[in-house]
Order: sequence, then C-alpha cells, then structure tokens
Amino acid sequence: MELNDWILANEAGLRLGFFTGVFALMAVWELLAPRRALTVSKTLRWSNNLGLVVLNTLVLRLVFPAAAVGMAAFAGELGWGLFNYYALPPAFELVASVVVMDLVIYLQHVMVHAVPVFWRLHRVHHADPDYDVTTGARFHPFEILLSMLIKFAIIAALGPPVVAVVVFEVVLNATSMFNHGNVRIPAGIDRVLRLIVVTPDMHRVHHSVEDDEANSNFGFNLPWWDRLFGTYRAQPRAGHQDMSIGIHHYSDAKQVSWLTGMLWLPFVGRISGYVINRREWNGGDS
Ligand SMILES: [Zn+2]
Ligand SMILES: [Zn+2]
Repeated sequence: MELNDWILANEAGLRLGFFTGVFALMAVWELLAPRRALTVSKTLRWSNNLGLVVLNTLVLRLVFPAAAVGMAAFAGELGWGLFNYYALPPAFELVASVVVMDLVIYLQHVMVHAVPVFWRLHRVHHADPDYDVTTGARFHPFEILLSMLIKFAIIAALGPPVVAVVVFEVVLNATSMFNHGNVRIPAGIDRVLRLIVVTPDMHRVHHSVEDDEANSNFGFNLPWWDRLFGTYRAQPRAGHQDMSIGIHHYSDAKQVSWLTGMLWLPFVGRISGYVINRREWNGGDS
C-alpha cells in the first residue's frame, strides 16, 4: 500500500519526468539522424503541437484531476474489477493489465477511424503534414477526454493494480514519442525491433494520406494486435521518403499546423472519405 500512496502522490511528477526525458532523447536523435525532411518549419510545428500538449494537460487535470491512476485506486478501494475480486500473483496482474489496456487502446484507435464523429476528432492527429516526436502527443482535447473515459471503463472492469496503470501510462507515452520519431533506424534492426514494439517505420505507414495505408498499423505500443487482427502493413507503397503524410485535401497551414486551426478542425468540412460507411465498392477486390 505504501508504494501505491507514493505513486499517487507523485504521479504527475513521474509522468512529466519521463515525458521530458524521452522527448529530449528523441529530439536529439531527430537532429542527428532524421528520416525525412520536414515540410513545415520546426519552430512553427513545435510551438503549435506542444501548445496543444500543454492545453491538453491543463484540460485533463481540470476535468479529471485524479486521472487513470486515481481511478485504479478508487476501484481498488471499492473492490471493483476482475483483479480486485480474484487475488492473482502481483506480477501476473501487472503484465496482464498492461497487455489488456494496450489491446483496448488498439481497439479504441480502430474505433476512432471507423466512427465518423470520432474520426473528426482523430483527424487532428492525422492532419499533421509532417511526422515527428511532437505528432505523438498531438490530439484534440476532446479525444484526450474520450480516451480517459474509456480508460476509466476498462480500469473499473479489470481492477488493475495502481502501479500497472502508472507503468502503462508512462510506457504508452514513451512509445508514442518513440514511434512518431522522425528517426532513421537501419532496416535490419527495425525488423527485429518491430516484433516487440511499434517502430517509427511501422507507425509512419498509418500517417499516409492513402486511405488503405492509414487504416493499417493502429497499434501504439505492442505491435502484435495489428498482426493478430489483420491490420498490419509492413511498408508504405511509395517508400518512407516519397510517401505523403497527412490527410487528402487538408493542407492549409492555418488549419493543420496552427493551434487554433487544430482545435477547430473537428467542426469543419465534410467527413473525410475513409470512415467505414463512406467506403465505395469498386467492383473488385480492394
Ligand atoms: Zn489514427
Ligand atoms: Zn500516430
């Protein structure tokens, strides 16, 4: 219980520490070995993308001050969830909780691509015309809140140990920055690495403007779900250098790169063409 109390008291600091540490590492790596040239200046990208991160942090703290970790402690006190009902070995509970929560994040990601109203929110992540460490944290505040509600639900049902939720949040945050990194990793190393974690080359496919490629590689952390559920795609057709990143027809800098445009993006225009009920049958196998 002491460990739980300490984690609860220091959760914000712990997460901020890991975030800044991994962010700094990735930023240096991007300078030393960039994968692609950026189309928008780094100053513009980083000030706006990171502005959104600061705003999201404030909104989240305001709306759900206890966050997912608080929910895990609450579920523990009330005896909610599978692992609070059946006492299983702590190591098993830790690993199983992290894996199950990762599966739920994968399913949530598929859902926000499939349901039109959620895709409107998720467009903010995909409208980024470039792909770097700041893309990994670029989500509309409403999507962040939706994400938290889904986490609350799975925590209430699963009853994971508090420490598992912290580990999950920290690892997910770190891997998201890693796999959105504009970094070069030798193909041989990438092939081995993507057996255990989603790599930058694997997730970059998901940021392609091409609909079939954007509907691939939904995993953020563990790469297995995409292979298991048939959404895995090894490489982009045009190659990593020549592929276009972003969303078709969304190229106005004010809309896709400025903070104000990003916040307004869910409320503008027609729903883009690739949500599931907008897909046209082309008469053959696609
Ligand atoms: Zn996506
Ligand atoms: Zn992404």
